[in-house]
Amino acid sequence: MSDNKVLVEIKNLKKYFPVKKGLFNKIVGNVKAVDDVSFTINKGETLGLVGESGCGKTTTGRTIIKLYEPTEGKIIYNGTDIAKYTPKQMQEYRRKMQMIFQDPYASLNSRMTVGDIIGEAIDIHDLMKGKEREERIRYLLNRVGLSSEHANRYPHEFSGGQRQRVGIARALAVEPEFIICDEPISALDVSIQAQVVNMLEELQDELGLTYLFIAHDLSMVKHISNRIGVMYLGKMVEVGESNELYSNPLHPYTQALLSAIPIPDPDEADEKQRIVLEGDIPSPIDPPPGCRFKNRCRYAKPICSEVEPKLKDLGGGHCAACHLL
Ligand code: SF4
Repeated sequence: MSDNKVLVEIKNLKKYFPVKKGLFNKIVGNVKAVDDVSFTINKGETLGLVGESGCGKTTTGRTIIKLYEPTEGKIIYNGTDIAKYTPKQMQEYRRKMQMIFQDPYASLNSRMTVGDIIGEAIDIHDLMKGKEREERIRYLLNRVGLSSEHANRYPHEFSGGQRQRVGIARALAVEPEFIICDEPISALDVSIQAQVVNMLEELQDELGLTYLFIAHDLSMVKHISNRIGVMYLGKMVEVGESNELYSNPLHPYTQALLSAIPIPDPDEADEKQRIVLEGDIPSPIDPPPGCRFKNRCRYAKPICSEVEPKLKDLGGGHCAACHLL
């Protein structure tokens, strides 16, 4: 039975992409983009998901919302496992779960006006019609800091920050409970990033939203997240409450990631030791056994090549996967 505080529970989620070769497209391996990942997100909280590009964080988000079909595992939403739901069965959940994409320009239909883009979401779920629908579009534009007149304009007439606001209005149009924010600020100017993050926080407070916030900007993730999960090569290597994870990172990979965050104070920055990761990220195609971080880890021991470390709770919900711990 699911804890009623928990909105989303991911259990042993896997998403593999087959690698095909030759004339007959023979499957010669699998890209293990997400490989046995488990975590929970409580109602009304923000879970940040971080890691280098290619670590599987975006694939995790897209699999949870079923833009990709999971290879294995459970996606329990409010107590119901939707992992194997058909597109028809997913219709009800499509309204409750929305996604905000990294590139607002690519995710908005350039031939539709902004009013039609937001209205389309309302129409798909048959939520309201006529005057009520028009009022809702106007309300949403105002709520994300745009004006009602913007409804008649096309996406190319907006700046990057304004387009992301349109993307947020479209997500909100269907009154979702859970929003996957997939690097929503990484394509925006630094000056605009904070405005968008602040708006997402305000909307969360006002509407009781739950977020999965995927990003590689670690300082912004700390600002918005209650808890943070760190992914490396398809695996979750550490999860913890955000202040605890930043002040006491346990996994050697998290320690290296955090050591690379620039510090504005020059004195503090001089004192801080940067951990430089050597070696390349191994290929995600059928990775070798043991710890996937072993070729870049300064603490690696023989056991790390043989036995895969499991994510374990080391106290107070701070979990890490490392043989040292
Ligand atoms: Fe490093 Fe071994 Fe821990 Fe992996 S399990 S992070 S290789 S010490």
